[in-house]
Amino acid sequence: MKKIILTGDRPTGNLHIGHYIGSLKNRVELQNSGEYDSYIMIADAQALTDNFKTPDKIRENIFKVACDYLSVGIDPEKSNIFIQSQISELTELNFYFENLVTVARLQRNPTVKHEIQQKNFEKSIPVGFFCYPISQAADILGINADLIPCGVDQLPMIEQAREIAHDFNSIYGELFKLPEPFVPKDKYSARLPGTDGNEKMSKSIGNCIYLCDDEKTLHDKVFSMYTDPNHIRMEDKGQVEGNMVFLYLDVFGQDKEKIAEMKEHYTRGGLGDVACKKYLFEVLNGILKPIREKR
Ligand code: ATP
Ligand code: MG
Repeated sequence: MKKIILTGDRPTGNLHIGHYIGSLKNRVELQNSGEYDSYIMIADAQALTDNFKTPDKIRENIFKVACDYLSVGIDPEKSNIFIQSQISELTELNFYFENLVTVARLQRNPTVKHEIQQKNFEKSIPVGFFCYPISQAADILGINADLIPCGVDQLPMIEQAREIAHDFNSIYGELFKLPEPFVPKDKYSARLPGTDGNEKMSKSIGNCIYLCDDEKTLHDKVFSMYTDPNHIRMEDKGQVEGNMVFLYLDVFGQDKEKIAEMKEHYTRGGLGDVACKKYLFEVLNGILKPIREKR
């Protein structure tokens, strides 16, 4: 029997190049290998947990995310694309799983902890949001997934799903497999920082380059990217570390030799931000152009 892949995205906005490098690219490769049964879920119910006041936003984004999938090469002939809320058994499974997880365990989830801070939920965390790792475990185990291609922020969710599977199996009898994450090896591909230098490009923050951005928008975003604030004149010595332009070139650029040369030149002085940004624009546009055309 083929191994099962499950991945998903919350329909909270358009997908961006962080999704592409962290998860979508791997999904397309795994799909095309023909070695897996692929399930790709649009997590609308999960998205409602922190967007329950704006259901129209979620509804609209279901279509946008589906369109993003098709544009990067997810092929509905090869992958099963589905909408979370349409499979009511996943909600049912969540109900039973809730007995297997303590409040203290949920409080320790570092991704959720971080998101609670980010969303200023400290004093009024919606219960549904707090418990979404359990619901996500129901999605993963309900589909019987072996492998989850995702970014590094999802590792605590997969760990939680494994614990639930283990506990369920030992109480009620062997039923669930223990799923494995499939995360890009490179640190910044597994969690691409935002164009503002924020540690994660995220559609809820808005520091994103979207897959659907047109050429002009991409150009404007690249040219307003965070570089080295002390690199004022071209002759100045520049800092490559923490400079988003070079970080993105490392993640997305193919010509490693040219990038190494540019870094060296920038560090010693004499290479301007404009030239670096121009090259980054070319690199990103090379990736996004075919995606735009397919869309
Ligand atoms: P939200 O802010 O609504 O949570 P998001 O941008 O975090 O949106 P998700 O839908 O939560 O996106 O995540 C979908 C998938 O994309 C997950 O596998 C996640 O790990 C991955 N992902 C999200 N952001 C990044 C990023 N910046 N770098 C790499 N992978 C990412
Ligand atoms: Mg997220």
